Amino acid sequence: MVLSTDSQISDAGFPASRGLMAEAMRAHDWERTALGPPSGWPVALKVAVNIMLDSPESMFIAWGPGLTFLCNDAFQPLLRPRRKPPLGQPLRELWFDSWGQIEPIVDKALAGIGSRFEDLPITLTRPGGEERTWWTFSYSPVRDETGAVVAMMGVANETTTRVLGERRHAFVIGLQDRLRDLTERSAIAAASAEMLGVYLGAGRAGLGEVDPSGEFFTVAHDWTDGRMSTLTGRWRLNDFSTEVMTDCRAGRTVRIDDVIADKRINGAHTAYEAAGNVRACIAVPLLKNGRFLAAFYADQMEPRLWTDDDEAIVREVAERTWAAMERAHTDLALAESERRYRALFNAMDEGFCIIEFIDGPHGPLSDYVHIEANPAYAVHAGITNVVGQKVRAMVGAEAQGWIDLYASVLHTGRPIRFERELEATGRWLELAAFRVEPPERNQVAVLFQDLTARKRAETALRELNETLEARVSERSAERDRLWRLSEDMLARADYMGMMSAVSPAWTRSLGWTATELLSRPYATFMHSQDAAPTLAAIERMRETAEPTRFENRIATRDGSWKPIEWTVSPEPDGINFIAVGRDLSATKAREAEMRRLEEALRQSQKMEAVGQLTGGLAHDFNNLLTGISGSLELVQARVLQGRYADVDRYVLAAQSASKRAASLTHRLLAFSRRQTLDPRTININALIAGMEELIRRTIGPSIAMETVSGAGIWSIHVDPNQLENALLNLAINARDAMPEGGKLTIETANRWLDERAARERDLPAGQYVSMCVSDNGVGMTPEVVAKAFDPFFTTKPIGLGTGLGLSMIYGFARQSGGQARIYSELGKGTMVCIYMPRHLGDADSASIEPDAAQLARSQSGETVLIIDDEPLVRMLVVDTLEELGYAAIEAADGAAGLKVLESDTHIDLLVTDVGLPNGMNGRQVADAARQLRPGLKVLFITGFAENAVLNHGHLEHGMHVVTKPFEIADLSRKIRSIILDN
Ligand code: ADP
Ligand code: MG
Repeated sequence: MVLSTDSQISDAGFPASRGLMAEAMRAHDWERTALGPPSGWPVALKVAVNIMLDSPESMFIAWGPGLTFLCNDAFQPLLRPRRKPPLGQPLRELWFDSWGQIEPIVDKALAGIGSRFEDLPITLTRPGGEERTWWTFSYSPVRDETGAVVAMMGVANETTTRVLGERRHAFVIGLQDRLRDLTERSAIAAASAEMLGVYLGAGRAGLGEVDPSGEFFTVAHDWTDGRMSTLTGRWRLNDFSTEVMTDCRAGRTVRIDDVIADKRINGAHTAYEAAGNVRACIAVPLLKNGRFLAAFYADQMEPRLWTDDDEAIVREVAERTWAAMERAHTDLALAESERRYRALFNAMDEGFCIIEFIDGPHGPLSDYVHIEANPAYAVHAGITNVVGQKVRAMVGAEAQGWIDLYASVLHTGRPIRFERELEATGRWLELAAFRVEPPERNQVAVLFQDLTARKRAETALRELNETLEARVSERSAERDRLWRLSEDMLARADYMGMMSAVSPAWTRSLGWTATELLSRPYATFMHSQDAAPTLAAIERMRETAEPTRFENRIATRDGSWKPIEWTVSPEPDGINFIAVGRDLSATKAREAEMRRLEEALRQSQKMEAVGQLTGGLAHDFNNLLTGISGSLELVQARVLQGRYADVDRYVLAAQSASKRAASLTHRLLAFSRRQTLDPRTININALIAGMEELIRRTIGPSIAMETVSGAGIWSIHVDPNQLENALLNLAINARDAMPEGGKLTIETANRWLDERAARERDLPAGQYVSMCVSDNGVGMTPEVVAKAFDPFFTTKPIGLGTGLGLSMIYGFARQSGGQARIYSELGKGTMVCIYMPRHLGDADSASIEPDAAQLARSQSGETVLIIDDEPLVRMLVVDTLEELGYAAIEAADGAAGLKVLESDTHIDLLVTDVGLPNGMNGRQVADAARQLRPGLKVLFITGFAENAVLNHGHLEHGMHVVTKPFEIADLSRKIRSIILDN
């Protein structure tokens, strides 16, 4: 090239070329650079710049002390990822990443020697990682007229795309070659993994197959570079970030350049760490019918900028590998189906044979020999050794017809097929004959088929082929999972006494290894007491072929026993059975623990109640005893001092204390439902009316009182004194609940309790009378309601509450065949109801007792028989009777009493203790007395212990009770009223 001289190049508007770079150079402020304005540049250089700018080749020039870079428009795209405008940059800065490789070549050019490279690999740095590129380029020196090198000129082309394309192509061909000869799925997967891993220079590569559940994937084998650990095993997909897996499931390739920086991995880092410190990975999912089946992946422990080329290659490998695996599968299936067909041919009823034309001219003498035949054909033909037989010899007279038929098939190659009904059997037979290719073989295949059976076989076979594969793999996967994961112990065993398969749960539960379990008769694992019944149950199952259940104890390896519940079912083969065992130890232990806890709770509740009861009792009795013994001491002191005047006061005090003690016992008995009731048939409204005045006085003026009496109220049969007592107690409770005043309501009603209402109240269904006392006071919390009926439970300060009121009411209601219930809301009020059963019968006239004031001495000297073994009591009663003007006859026991009754002595009343010596109690005496003297009036004297004897207070008409301890005045009143009552 001849360069122009200095003067021929105009500096104005240098460089004159068109294009973007020329423009940029013109606009560049060269004055401020080390190169100075272009006017000072060597002429040779300027010429070179012009050539470069005008060239369609991608070119650059570097010159000056810093090798300043100038390039043309065609070179621009090669600089693509370098952000800074390259114009005027030192070459070394621009290609800092490959400088090590470039520098010697540049030096060579500057030294005057040009060089050229083809497809030189150069690794470039890109944001986030490195990129492998390939280049074909030449560097040449630019000399001035003196021959000195003033610059270097480069012509460069990036060939990455082509190189990679070629490599990929070569790789794929290699892959194809390698896979061609492989027939096993696992070998195919392994070969591909290795090839891919090596090609990509990755740390690891492989194929993960997704479970039918879509939740896990399994890697059977993978390839690693020896540094990275393997990924073989079973992994949960979503552990590797749900977002990533969503992409996979949708069939999108996943490229992760840096696990740490990738936002999709948030929170899933540990999985990538656990999977071999993965920093970068690429995965291509494989889908079939929209289902995510597998993924081909490559990983490495360093970040990596995956390129489109990488993705393309992984995809290529994934698809080819998968196809090869499917093909292997198909080949296998084909071989299998071939085998099945052959088996079928051998087994089928239809006759099949191949006959071969025997050399010779076609014509009347031509013949065919059988060279192959299936057993069915032999049966059709009626001879066993068909092979080797000639058609003419076998068929006889009709042979020519057949031979002509076969000859036409052999010549034309056109198969024939016809159906014919065989009159003898009534079955449709189809005959088909076709030429066996190639024609030189001179063979004809002949098929005799029973049409219906063939059709059936064909359909069955087709269906089998279509579904068998899928069914088998699905089912066995399912079964396998069940077998491995089941908590229950699963086993296959035979009636000879051995197991042939056991699930892993056996070892987990019992500690025995599978080998141990399978090598000993199963009975030897059973508890000696359980073995016989268990074997008997198994034997029974064998006879009935019905599944059965039993429980037994099985030895664990460490020498203890576990209770196991078994479900066993026979296999159809009649030899084996399947057993499913559930370990009951946990259940049993839990049940036992529950029972123990419940028992402990009940016990502690009982102890608490008893503690409360005895504590309360002790407290009350102490007070009363103090009153009594203190008074007695004082009496004694005063008597010694001869100061009799004070004695009376102390006696009174002692008496009042013992009266209170008696009433306390009474209430306790009421609570224990052992009090002796004296029920009467009463009208509850009348009873309430009689109490109104007393209640009004008790509750005071700040509380209003209302009585709502149910109309036509039914009679009830209860102890009226106790009912009054209950009502008074309820009124007092209500008063205590309304310290600021309020309203008290007493309401009675007839109630029909149906089954449900009765069940709620723990009563038999039926008719009841209710008495409800309500207030609008402070109310109770549910906790207080729950305890209010407990004896001695009180929320009131010491001295104000005894905690016995409601417990007595409850005891009374229950003992009277009824119920007591609290309905309360905190802050609103309380209603306590007593339900009492309706009494069907007449009102009891005895309920109207004469007032004590009306008591007068007897006028007519009636006679009373008194039976009591205790002389003191007898004396007391006799004294009382005589004081009242009655005649009294005494007896010490039942027998003595009955003697009197057998005589004709007139007797108006029998008073008898219940507890009597010498074989007869008071109740029996009274019964015997009524046999002798029907309607005889009876008064029992009783302590609570004999309550049962008196039928729990349910007495016959004309029988009455007085409870010990009693007051003389009470006794007199009672005797008087009984005798007067007719
Ligand atoms: P006492 O009245 O001696 O406390 P009770 O057996 O009569 O004993 O009552 C037990 C507890 O039930 C009372 O202390 C009180 O807490 C609660 N109670 C009973 N009746 C009412 C009521 N009408 N309103 C609010 N609380 C009540
Ligand atoms: Mg009370």
